[in-house]
Amino acid sequence: MEAEQQRLGFLVVDDDAFMLKVITRSLHALGHDRVVTCSNGVEGLLKLDQNTPPDVILCDLNMPEMDGVEFLRKLAGTGYDGSLVVISGEDQRILGTAESLARAHRLDILGYLGKPFKSEALKEILSRRQPRVQAAAPCAPAEPCSPADIRRGLDAHEFIVYFQPKVELASGGVVCVEALARWQHSVRGMVAPDQFIPVAEQYGLIGALTERVLTDSLQQVQAWRQQGLELKIAINVSMDDLVQLDFPEKVLACAEAAGIRPFDITLEVTESRLMRDPLAPLDILTRLRLKRIGLSIDDFGTGYSNLAQLQNIPFDELKLDRSFVQGAAWNLAAKDILESTVDLAKKLNMTVVAEGVETRADWDLVVALGCDLAQGYFIAKPMPGADLPFWLKTWHVP
Ligand code: C2E
Ligand code: CA
Ligand code: CA
Repeated sequence: MEAEQQRLGFLVVDDDAFMLKVITRSLHALGHDRVVTCSNGVEGLLKLDQNTPPDVILCDLNMPEMDGVEFLRKLAGTGYDGSLVVISGEDQRILGTAESLARAHRLDILGYLGKPFKSEALKEILSRRQPRVQAAAPCAPAEPCSPADIRRGLDAHEFIVYFQPKVELASGGVVCVEALARWQHSVRGMVAPDQFIPVAEQYGLIGALTERVLTDSLQQVQAWRQQGLELKIAINVSMDDLVQLDFPEKVLACAEAAGIRPFDITLEVTESRLMRDPLAPLDILTRLRLKRIGLSIDDFGTGYSNLAQLQNIPFDELKLDRSFVQGAAWNLAAKDILESTVDLAKKLNMTVVAEGVETRADWDLVVALGCDLAQGYFIAKPMPGADLPFWLKTWHVP
């Protein structure tokens, strides 16, 4: 561990020459000698361009030219996947906001360092650093998918489903799995959903894709059942699926064909934009509930998945977005928000699922907060259906 730490590279961006000196000295004292410093964000980004990216960037929030927030935004644009520490003399709330912002940009923020600077605080923050968890499947580099290629892929049966366990925290048992689409592309290899779902939505192909995922996952549930495994299934649906008024009938027909009961199915709904016609989705979602199909509000707390939806739509499950869960163990504001969201969901009689549980600290926190279910790389990454029975045999409560 010590040897691994020695090799870490650091970039410190701060307009205060004294701070640069103090931080560098502290890092050296902690055994880190690969420290590059610069006095503004522009220079910092240039350094990133020219060298192997550092493992950790420490960045001041208040800088005269490019401030820290702009730096974070641009840093995220470079695809930086190392860790980040924000430095600032601002109050907790502003620091907390900067942290949420970094998280929303999917940056791995370790925490913030207040001013005056304390060497022990730096040491503690750096101890939170974990080796980055790899993506769920080897994915092709981001390259736009064309609608014609998606159509071809659908015809060629290149879309497959991976499954990620949802664990019931009270019993430690795996009660449900979430179906996650993958594209086994003949040329590009495994393509992640973030690359094809938005295109499928935009070009009217999401319906066909949802149907494929639905059919394949329900058949998989039936196949597991025949092996003695009773699992419920969660399937992602897009708002664009909720425009055809016969969508509930289609889901029921798929369920019946596979011999699966409606209440063993949950549909996870994410809203990535405002509803164009709120009436059709409302009609469809209400009828899905009447037919005893579970409804989950996905990515709760981000985008358009918000409080208003809880009032308007009969969801029975709330999935906390992973940006809230991760790091909440040591971010007081995030923890408070998480706690009150869990309370709110309980008052509304909803099941609460914490997603993105990546570390022991995340796990302990969601247990302490009283979440019902947890999902994340700490438990298992999404896997092919055929691998699940073996994984289940090895699963034990951490
Ligand atoms: P989502 O519904 O929020 O699904 C969770 C995503 O987080 C999955 O990414 C999963 O692999 C990933 N994940 C799970 N645990 C962890 C963790 O501990 N850490 C981190 N960093 N990530 C974790 P995936 O499979 O790449 O899917 C991305 C998104 O694509 C999904 O987000 C969902 O919105 C969408 N999607 C996937 N399959 C389908 C589908 O069949 N239909 C629709 N409409 N959307 C889908
Ligand atoms: Ca989901
Ligand atoms: Ca999510």
